[in-house]
Amino acid sequence: MLQPTHGAAGVLAAELVLLQYNVSLLSWEAAAGVLIGCVAGPLADIDKQGSIMAKIFFPVSALLRLLKIKHRTFTHSLAFLLVLGVLAIPMPPLYYWIFLAAYASHPLIDLFNEQGVRLLWPLKLKIRLLPRMIAVDTGSTAEMIFRWLLIAACVWLLLLDAGFAAFTF
Ligand SMILES: [Zn+2]
Repeated sequence: MLQPTHGAAGVLAAELVLLQYNVSLLSWEAAAGVLIGCVAGPLADIDKQGSIMAKIFFPVSALLRLLKIKHRTFTHSLAFLLVLGVLAIPMPPLYYWIFLAAYASHPLIDLFNEQGVRLLWPLKLKIRLLPRMIAVDTGSTAEMIFRWLLIAACVWLLLLDAGFAAFTF
């Protein structure tokens, strides 16, 4: 999936964690959380040359290239999520869970991609949730629709939290 799609998924993950913690989505705390989600969502693509994340965190992406870590492998795996879970322990709990949930949203939605993800890296097994025929191709119309659904869910949660009862079903 493309970076904006992962950004939207990261924001949605952040909003869900914030609501879980009973933090108003219209607070500064939430703004910081949404920002973390927005960066953590696309972060796994640091393994992809030329991606925004690879450019921002150049030393890390250069190291990954040096170690010959391929796209949608190590940084998209459960093993790496575990490593991050340990490294991020010093973060305050709210932001810790936002960071991890937003990061995890990345391999999760990549599972709908036709190329699949090596979620169980170092095992070679590629996991894909949808049959190739209906899988979401990177940059396709299906991905665009998927992204808009994610954005709609983000806006819906925001309105719901702001007390617009009309938006509840
Ligand atoms: Zn990815």
